[in-house]
Amino acid sequence: MSDQQFASDNYSGICPEAWDAMARANQGHERAYGDDQWTTRAADHFRELFATDCEVFFAFNGTAANSLALSSLCQSYHSVICSDIAHIETDECGAPEFFSNGSKLLLARTEQGKLTPAAIREVALKRKDIHYPKPRVVSLTQATEVGTVYQPDELRAISDTCRDLGLHLHMDGARFANACAHLGISPAELSWKTGVDVLCFGGTKNGMAVGEAILFFNRQLATDFEYRCKQSGQLASKMRFLSAPWVGLLESGAWLKYAAHANHCASLLAELIQDVPGVELMFPVQANGVFVSLPPPALEALKSRGWVFYTFIGVGGARFMCSWDTREARVRQLAADIRAAVSAAS
Ligand SMILES: *Cc1c(COP(=O)(O)O)cnc(C)c1O
Repeated sequence: MSDQQFASDNYSGICPEAWDAMARANQGHERAYGDDQWTTRAADHFRELFATDCEVFFAFNGTAANSLALSSLCQSYHSVICSDIAHIETDECGAPEFFSNGSKLLLARTEQGKLTPAAIREVALKRKDIHYPKPRVVSLTQATEVGTVYQPDELRAISDTCRDLGLHLHMDGARFANACAHLGISPAELSWKTGVDVLCFGGTKNGMAVGEAILFFNRQLATDFEYRCKQSGQLASKMRFLSAPWVGLLESGAWLKYAAHANHCASLLAELIQDVPGVELMFPVQANGVFVSLPPPALEALKSRGWVFYTFIGVGGARFMCSWDTREARVRQLAADIRAAVSAAS
């Protein structure tokens, strides 16, 4: 398979800026286990980008980043409030519960993929007795699993609710860059300035080979976090190859440029198909994903034309994800095939 596909943003390869930084890091010898200049530089770039003195760690993937971050915020008898379609609930094989030695996820309803203060309160205040796992954290996903983006005032309302209820706030930012690009505001504005305690910032879906960064804005919550990373097999001995790509993405601004490009391609796809009778956009297109409901025969027709896409994510329908390298011509091809498949099906 070499044609560009829209199944996931992780079908793409490595962007030139990340690749080039890997090559630069691949010269001579360096200290191991994160004591190298690339890891220091990457962490400093994050502190500069977020305009705050946060603690920075690197993990191989988002499952590890989320799970370890949550386990750092919880005791085993605590619970994490998240959406019923959260990646930590549906796609991490119980890793958050595993790494926290049993902290339970409590599921809240969402509106267009987003948690609300009311939904959080409902779950957090449902029970207060000793028989119920004590709520300790709210975890939200920015951009969400269904391609929507929390506005800063929505985040602020959630973090106010958290403060009220004595809860920490974790952000799964597998597509944090796409949210920044959509809103056109600074990473600081979208994270610690709106009350986020810890952010898992995704690199893989935005052009890196592997790697997510874990940023603790509340530094106390990062106590001994390096031991968690080591114990869980997340301390890379040649750490420079996890951190150098971040230097490449952050120093060049490519992290934002590519996210904006992926968002643009998603908007273009939505625009090209929205007038097709029988096609319905299921959610506002705010990041790099387009969710559409299509007649089942049209889904089949698209598959037989060679298109690869997911139909099981979130709430049904088809999901088309754009990536850092998506070509507009390919978007137009997909749109034309959707139009043809739907008209043949009706
Ligand atoms: C892709 C993704 C992750 C990370 O998944 P891994 O496969 O573990 O890297 C985390 N959260 C969301 C919302 C994602 O889409």
